[in-house]
Amino acid sequence: MSQYTVKIEDVSFAYEVQPVLKDIDLKMKSGEFLGILGPNGSGKSTLVKLILNLLKPQKGNIEVFGQPVQSLKDRSSIGYVSQKANSFQRGFPATVKEVVASGLYGKLGLFRWMKKKDFEQVDQAIEQVGLTPFAKSNIGSLSGGQQQRAFIARALVSKPKLLIFDEPTVGVDTKSVSEFYDLIKKLHQQEQLTLLLVTHDIYSALSYVDRVVCLNKQLIFDGDKEAFIRQDKEILSRVFGDVQGTPYLHYR
Ligand code: ADP
Repeated sequence: MSQYTVKIEDVSFAYEVQPVLKDIDLKMKSGEFLGILGPNGSGKSTLVKLILNLLKPQKGNIEVFGQPVQSLKDRSSIGYVSQKANSFQRGFPATVKEVVASGLYGKLGLFRWMKKKDFEQVDQAIEQVGLTPFAKSNIGSLSGGQQQRAFIARALVSKPKLLIFDEPTVGVDTKSVSEFYDLIKKLHQQEQLTLLLVTHDIYSALSYVDRVVCLNKQLIFDGDKEAFIRQDKEILSRVFGDVQGTPYLHYR
């Protein structure tokens, strides 16, 4: 069994002619919490799609849990929370419980085929994210932060070992952002999950992640967060270009 949860070796990818990702080498150890930072269009979502085997690289290899990603049998071992996980309108016809259950089957409205064990797993996932009082509420009636929790429960319901978040704090208010990271930290400790967080705003996550990778089509930095903090100005100018024009240093 590989010691790496994710192993990306010499991967390049292009949608058309121009490469979107070039010569990427990245390894994630089991139990690690890795934050990937890059501006819009830097290839972060593309990298996530490659790890999820939704795209195939033109060059290089990707292994997940020690197996080539294209032959990974147990897909339920990867949980994914997308950027749009907090934007359901009032009246969207699904309860929190239904949304979470869809993480087991990939579809809404399958309650009648669910077994007792499945219902228990759904209830447990809802409890893990603190939404038990809202289990029967319409997903669209919840706040953005609560909806995001429901989607974390949806990702957790199949008991994954790797959890991937793509820009989880976009469109979420400041209080919900810190609640989100507190929840992630708790899950990381309790469930022994390997976490991959993709964001253009690393600073809200910096006290939680173990390691930071900076990406702008190529890997620009890969190191522990202390090393990142020591050189962040210089690294950010390489990742984002004109640092003066970016909001990423305003925490100072
Ligand atoms: P990020 O997640 O960092 O914002 P993406 O991985 O979404 O970046 O996009 C990287 C680049 O690939 C961007 O220039 C984007 O326009 C381009 N791109 C993304 N998806 C497609 C697609 N389906 N077809 C063509 N180009 C795409």
